[in-house]
Amino acid sequence: MATNPNPLAGLPDFLRPANAQTKVVSAPPMQVGAGNVTADVDSTNPTQIEVRNPAAFTPAVATHEADHVFQLSRNPGVTQNPGAQKLAMSAAGTPAMYDYGGPDGLIAARAAGKTIADFTPEQQATMASDFQLHTNDAIKRGDRVGLAKVTAAYEPFIGQQARLPGKSESMTTMTPQNLSPLAPSVPPVTVAGMPMQGSKLIGDQAQQQYVNTMQKHFQPAAAPKPATGLPLLATTR
Ligand SMILES: [Zn+2]
Repeated sequence: MATNPNPLAGLPDFLRPANAQTKVVSAPPMQVGAGNVTADVDSTNPTQIEVRNPAAFTPAVATHEADHVFQLSRNPGVTQNPGAQKLAMSAAGTPAMYDYGGPDGLIAARAAGKTIADFTPEQQATMASDFQLHTNDAIKRGDRVGLAKVTAAYEPFIGQQARLPGKSESMTTMTPQNLSPLAPSVPPVTVAGMPMQGSKLIGDQAQQQYVNTMQKHFQPAAAPKPATGLPLLATTR
């Protein structure tokens, strides 16, 4: 089995700048409700991914956690908006906290005029990892129609997330009204003969490396953190 010394080597391109300094460390097991936490990002230490169950720390979880690091680097107006937080807390500890409806849900949400601001931090992070998973899966299967659907469903929302202002930048130039969809960035993958290419938000490297399976090399944690319930952006995965 191939191992990779850098568990973040396969991140989507849009998550790379915010994760340039991110450390992946091992941390003691932690439970939230009935579930074992796979990994989390503590909002008081926002460039550190704590892996609590290495066996479950897949590349998809790495992307999910790296998205939390990204969220914590952005203006909290969208990534931690009160409505979304309320939703997140009401579903905390259940699978519903991650459920944004999949590709069909996103297509319906866009038709209903929703933006990334209508989704919780957990849903946003799961959206990013699913975008990468579905893109790579469609490419692997040579499914042009599937890839076109995945791109159409996810790219508008992930594109909005990617463009959010930084932590201390004003939201005045980025309101829900101007969280407009990006123009499509990929060639018409449904056309036979065109190379199959996913969204530029994911990038070639992430599409090639994402198939690497378990990545086991972690730096030791500096100091174990006490389990203190479920802070707003600490996550069960
Ligand atoms: Zn999470």
